[in-house]
Amino acid sequence: MRGRMMSKPLTITEIMAFADRHHGNSEIVSITADEGLHRATYRDVFARAARVAAVLESMGFNEGDRIATLAWNDHRHLELYYGVSCSGRVLHTVNPRLFGEQLVYIINHAEDRALFFDPMFLPLVEGLADRLPTVEQFVALCGRAAMPDSKLPRLECYETLLDNATANVDWPALDEQSASALCYTSGTTGHPKGVLYSHRSTVLHAYASALPDVMQLSKRDVVLPVVPMFHVNAWGTPYSGPLTGAKLVLPGPKMADGETLHSLIDGEGVTIALGVPTVWLALLEHLRTTGKTVPSLDRTLVGGAACPLSIMREFEERHGVTTRHGWGMTETSPLGSVNVPVEDPSSLNEREHDEQRVKQGRALFGVDFKIVDDANRELPWDGKAFGDLKIRGYWVCDGYFKAGDGAVLDADGWFSTGDVATIDASGFMKITDRTKDVIKSGGEWISSIELENLAIGHPDVAEAAVIGVDHPKWTERPLLIVVPTDSSTIDKAALLDWFKGKVADWWIPDDVVTVATIPHTATGKISKLTLREQFKEYRFPT
Ligand code: ADP
Repeated sequence: MRGRMMSKPLTITEIMAFADRHHGNSEIVSITADEGLHRATYRDVFARAARVAAVLESMGFNEGDRIATLAWNDHRHLELYYGVSCSGRVLHTVNPRLFGEQLVYIINHAEDRALFFDPMFLPLVEGLADRLPTVEQFVALCGRAAMPDSKLPRLECYETLLDNATANVDWPALDEQSASALCYTSGTTGHPKGVLYSHRSTVLHAYASALPDVMQLSKRDVVLPVVPMFHVNAWGTPYSGPLTGAKLVLPGPKMADGETLHSLIDGEGVTIALGVPTVWLALLEHLRTTGKTVPSLDRTLVGGAACPLSIMREFEERHGVTTRHGWGMTETSPLGSVNVPVEDPSSLNEREHDEQRVKQGRALFGVDFKIVDDANRELPWDGKAFGDLKIRGYWVCDGYFKAGDGAVLDADGWFSTGDVATIDASGFMKITDRTKDVIKSGGEWISSIELENLAIGHPDVAEAAVIGVDHPKWTERPLLIVVPTDSSTIDKAALLDWFKGKVADWWIPDDVVTVATIPHTATGKISKLTLREQFKEYRFPT
C-alpha cells in the first residue's frame, strides 16, 4: 500500500525556492577581485541565478550540457551553482590548482561547452584555450570595467551578459536523479576521475550535514567555507547554507591568508568555519603573532587530511573553539563521518580526550561504513583491528562519469575508499592511512598519519611527512621528512626521542631529513607520490 503523502522531487531548485521565500534576507558576503567586499542576500543571488539560466538558454546550451567554472568562493560562483544546476545543466567545478595537462584532460573529458572563469585565471585559460575544442564560450566573471584585455575567442563579460538577460525564467521540473554537478578527483595516480552528483544526493547531503552531530547549522549561524567551491562543492555549504538560512561568508581568493580570515571571522561574526588543516595553520599563526582573538567562532570542521592534535589544542585552549574532525572524499560528496564526542570531554583525562578527538568520527545517517580484511570479511569494531574502509549510502558514487559500467562497487554494493581504518565500540572510525601510504615493516603496518601528527606537535617542526623507504631487512621503514619552524634547526636525535613512549619503538622512524618545503597536491594535501619520487634514491644510514 502506498502512503498518501505528496511526492516532491528532491532537487536543488527546491532548496532555492524555499530559501528565496523563507530566508530571502539572509546575507552572503564575498571577497571579489573587482568589487572588494560584496554584500548580497539570498534573494539577490537567486534573482541573478535566473539571469544565468536565461543566458545559458540564449547561448543554446541544453539540459545535461556541462558548464565549467574556474572560480573562487564568491557570490558569482554561487549564482552559477544555482543557475546552471537548476536549469538542468551540469556544473563542472574545475580546480585551478591542477596541472595544465590535467585541466586539458578533464575539460575535454567532461566535454564542457562553456567556461566561466575568474579574471585572475586568464593567463591559465589563454594558455589552454587552443586545446579545448568543446568549449564554445568563455565568460570572465567580472564587471565591464574589470574586463581583461584578451585575444581569447568568444569571450564575454559576466555582468554585461546578466544585465542584458531576462529576469523571468521558468525553472524546469527536474527528475531528482538527474545530474547536478561534476567534480574530478585530483588523480594522484592515473587520470582524474569524474564524480557526478545528482540533485537528490545533493539535497540529502545538505540535509544531513546540518544535523547537530555534523555541522549543527541554523539560521543563527554564520558559515565561512574556506574549502573551495571548486572542489567537492565546498563540502556542501552552498546548499546547506540556503537550506538552513545561515549567513554565508565567502573568502574569494583569500583562502589561506590568516589576516583576511581573521578579519572576516571577526567582522562578520562567523560561528563555524570549515577547511583543511593547512588553512588553520595560517590563521592560528596570524592570531599568535598579532595577539588577536576570534570570540564569535564556536567551532571548526576540519577534514580532507588528518587534523593534527596541535591545531585542535590551540583552537580549544587559546580561543575556546571546538574542532569537529571529519572525514570524506570526492566520491562521498564528501561527508562520511564527523567526530562530535558522545561523552562530555571534561569527564576524560587529557590523554583520553586527545585519543578521542584525533579520530575521524561516527557515520551520519545516509551513509554506512565498515572495515574488511583482505578476504573482504568484516572486521570487529574494537578500535584495534584495521582494514580497508568501505562505505555506501545516498551520496556515495556508484561509478565514474563516462566510465561505462566500470564497476566500482563490490558485489554487496559497497564502495572501497582506499583508506585503512579502525572502528571502536562506539562507532568512532579512525583513519590509520591511505592503502598506498601505509608503511609495511616486517609484515606489520605502521601508520604514516600517526607519526606525522606526533611530529607536527614538536615545537621545532612546522610541517612533517612520513613515507616508507625500501629496507633490505624490513621491506620498508619510515623516513621522517620535516620543514623546521623559522627559528629552529632540527636536532635529529632529539626529534626521534620525541616519539619514545608515544608509539611502539619499532614504529619510530629510522631517519629524519630536513627540507625547505613539502610538496602538496591540488587539494592542499601532502603529495606522498612526489615525496616518494624525490626520495627514491634515498638509503638509510647503516
Ligand atoms: P583527492 O585527494 O583525490 O582530492 P579527496 O579530496 O576526495 O581526494 O580526498 C579523500 C581522501 O582524503 C580520503 O580518502 C582520505 O584518504 C583523506 N582524508 C579526508 N579526510 C581525512 C581525515 N580527516 N583524516 C585523514 N585522511 C582524510
